[in-house]
Amino acid sequence: DGTFTTVADGVLTMGTNAAFPPYEYKEGDEVVGIDAEIAQALADKLGLKLEILDMDFSSLITAIQAGKIDISLAGMTVTDERKQNVDFTDSYATGVQVIIVKNDSDIKSVDDLANDKIMGVQEGTTGHLYCSDDYGEEHVIAYTNGATAVQALLQDKVDCVVIDQQPAEEFVEANEGLKILDTEYVVEDYAAAVSKDNPGLTAALNQALQELKDDGTIQSILDKYIKA
Ligand code: GLN
Repeated sequence: DGTFTTVADGVLTMGTNAAFPPYEYKEGDEVVGIDAEIAQALADKLGLKLEILDMDFSSLITAIQAGKIDISLAGMTVTDERKQNVDFTDSYATGVQVIIVKNDSDIKSVDDLANDKIMGVQEGTTGHLYCSDDYGEEHVIAYTNGATAVQALLQDKVDCVVIDQQPAEEFVEANEGLKILDTEYVVEDYAAAVSKDNPGLTAALNQALQELKDDGTIQSILDKYIKA
């Protein structure tokens, strides 16, 4: 019936992993980026204050189930497996899994991943899942976040990093000697995750999201951070 409760009265508590630019990253102590702005706009619509908690990506779904956070916005891909544990709002953006390599890498396309390569991924992400499924867990090293996985690539601890396209572009821009392969690995939808016990919140968020899509707010937030 459209009623919902939140973890803290009058507050929308959102979890994210703030090492995933431009969706979420830190400016000083503050978490900023696309998801922070969309969450703020959603909270405003719902008449709630926004509080953002930074945690490992792989902890987000358990934090929702444990009632520590109301929602996560974390460039999180909607998957059937996750849907068994949380509900998702409607999608607000699209992501693509891409492959980052060093400029002189002998990995030229996604096909080369089969040649005994070691892939760096972020723990618990879809990139982690695809690489383990397609090439075997022994070819995959999982890091707590994307920034750390990219550091491992720079130090030759892995042969490539499989991660979402927009953070990949930010990491390549911020670090010399890296490039993104032309091949797209997998295309996905991002949405906010909400507890299965809080369908009223999902409904309220979906209504707010629709209004923010209709008035152009979502598109303008995306355009502000994503270079055409
Ligand atoms: N889109 C990917 C996923 O949902 C990665 C998200 C992230 O690392 N923040 O698994």
